[in-house]
Amino acid sequence: MESSELEKYIINVFNKLHSIPEIAFEEFQTSAYIASQLKELDYEVIEKVGGTGVIGILDSGSPGPVLAVRADMDALEFEKDGKTYNVHACGHDAHSSMVLGLAKQVKQTGINKGKLYVVFQPAEEGLFGAAKMIQSGMLAEVEEMLGIHLRPIQEARLGQATPALVHGASNRVDISVKGLNAHGARPHLGINAVDAAVAIVNGLNAIKADPSVSHSVKVTSFKGGTDTFNLIPSAAKLVVDVRAQNNEVMEDILEKVKLAVEYGARSLGAQAQIDFIRGVPAADYCHELTNLARKAIVKELGESLEIITTPGGEDFHFYSRDLGIKTGYIGLGADLTPGLHHPDMSFDPSALIKGTNILFHMVKSKLG
Ligand SMILES: [Zn+2]
Ligand SMILES: [Zn+2]
Repeated sequence: MESSELEKYIINVFNKLHSIPEIAFEEFQTSAYIASQLKELDYEVIEKVGGTGVIGILDSGSPGPVLAVRADMDALEFEKDGKTYNVHACGHDAHSSMVLGLAKQVKQTGINKGKLYVVFQPAEEGLFGAAKMIQSGMLAEVEEMLGIHLRPIQEARLGQATPALVHGASNRVDISVKGLNAHGARPHLGINAVDAAVAIVNGLNAIKADPSVSHSVKVTSFKGGTDTFNLIPSAAKLVVDVRAQNNEVMEDILEKVKLAVEYGARSLGAQAQIDFIRGVPAADYCHELTNLARKAIVKELGESLEIITTPGGEDFHFYSRDLGIKTGYIGLGADLTPGLHHPDMSFDPSALIKGTNILFHMVKSKLG
């Protein structure tokens, strides 16, 4: 296919998706449009995967690797003058356009072995979409998966790309503490939940983990007591934000958080429980796919950036953790300003064809 023809297609798709930004699990028009494009390209199409997800499958008919390329579809909600509105401020419309362009390009040239899955996932921003796709069971035969995300201008310029964008793990931990009410004049008859919560906070702040792996534990919300000044409070609530650059350190820290919560409360005769822990695992990439990405980037752009480490999270990493899929993830420069998640985010759309071509080189070297 003429590159300019493919580029035109990708830009058209992008303009369409950009005009219909929809938030997590509400990607109805977006997924319907993507499914219709995939049907036109003669892919086997599975719709309503994990809610609003779409999967397109191209089968060579010969044995070989089952390779998936995943795009996310959701936009973000903003507020102005009391009104909410949606914007594709994280570039998920760009990712979907690149992967649809890839589907078209691969269909045109064909594959000689294995299968290609193009996966359009809902709700990346809510960090629930990947889990829903996994629960659907539709990705059971996938062995390898690639992802791609636009990068802010500070990380990569137009014409640059990194072969691995290494996200950290992050978790939110919600804790509730239970004490016993008493009169302020008789504190020895009660159990002060605020005191117990403070003991927990001190324990959390004293947590130590491998200093060679960047990490942090911090209390981001603390609520305790009532407006009644002479009442020993019986309840407190804490929220903790935990970050770690790899999954081992995250697990280590979460174990210590559990101990700090349990023993901090018990040391004052109170009870505490973790109401829930929610988050994303860290990137755990396959070296072979990272090397393949580097080669593809060099082929397309002349040279490749180094691997980029970011404390940001991505629910893409549930695919490797929960399904054992080997993964790779490209960060693509697009002169994107002022930043991701900014309502005025914009970038140079000539980056899209570059991203599609990088993915195409990788798919071709895997599936022939
Ligand atoms: Zn985002
Ligand atoms: Zn994003």
